[in-house]
Amino acid sequence: MDCIKIKNLEIFANHGVFKEEKSLGQKFLLSLSVYYSQSKAAKTDDLNYSINYGELCFEIIERYKKEKFDLIETSCLDIIKFIFEKYKIVEQVDLEVKKPWAPVHTGVDMISIKMSRKRRNFYIGIGTNIGDKEENIKEAIDLMKENGIDIVKESGLLKNKAWGKTDQDDFINKIVIGSSYEDPDDLLRILNKIEDEMGRKRIEKWGPRIIDLDILFVDYEKIYTERLIVPHPYIQEREFILEQLVEIAPHFVHPVLNKSVRVLYDELREKELK
Ligand code: ADP
Ligand code: MG
Repeated sequence: MDCIKIKNLEIFANHGVFKEEKSLGQKFLLSLSVYYSQSKAAKTDDLNYSINYGELCFEIIERYKKEKFDLIETSCLDIIKFIFEKYKIVEQVDLEVKKPWAPVHTGVDMISIKMSRKRRNFYIGIGTNIGDKEENIKEAIDLMKENGIDIVKESGLLKNKAWGKTDQDDFINKIVIGSSYEDPDDLLRILNKIEDEMGRKRIEKWGPRIIDLDILFVDYEKIYTERLIVPHPYIQEREFILEQLVEIAPHFVHPVLNKSVRVLYDELREKELK
């Protein structure tokens, strides 16, 4: 992918665990690659479709000097987030932070760390069956936006009978596509935090809930960890999910089953009619 590179941007700042590092400050060198499509800028010769690297350098310097973090990791992620939030065309940022004067009592040339984040589309299923359901969904979406998730597309609202555990109030469901530079595991944490903030209590599996936020797809990625399974394992069994996916992304291909959501929806309908 196209990218702009800035190498060894020198900044005098005050990050470090030791109090002397915070009071005296030291030199940091930042090297970054910022990925975005350069087609439009190249064809139009118009700076508005590009990133002004001079401006970017000074914005980074200002931002990097503003806070005093203990860890270079924190200072690094702060700059990455700043770039994604300021420049919506950015797809990926790789950033290396070098600390040439790191307080290590032995001969060492340089200590550095490197972090990389990229923008992904997260397909997020929202469900609620307690209280003012439409209001709950609205609040969840507002909280997602406050947490840096850009809503790219959203389905309508769908009323559904409870699935799995049927002796409870009807659900209202909605699916949104949210764009975020957070890693999938971090995004799940953000969604769990929103569920908690909205007062979700985990009492029984598939029981009533004020809000449920599930990650259905993350681009075409497959993830299998203790905390997160993507694609969500129940997509192909839940008609209401498939119906709403057909509404917003009918040709999206399920990366494990290798079938479009439209085909999965038609197959499930056929099975249910038999
Ligand atoms: P459910 O959504 O199945 O009714 P919960 O919302 O209580 O149940 O989620 C239970 C756990 O499922 C969460 O703690 C989370 O770690 C895990 N999980 C695994 N994969 C996913 C996913 N794709 N989206 C959301 N949660 C997931
Ligand atoms: Mg859930």
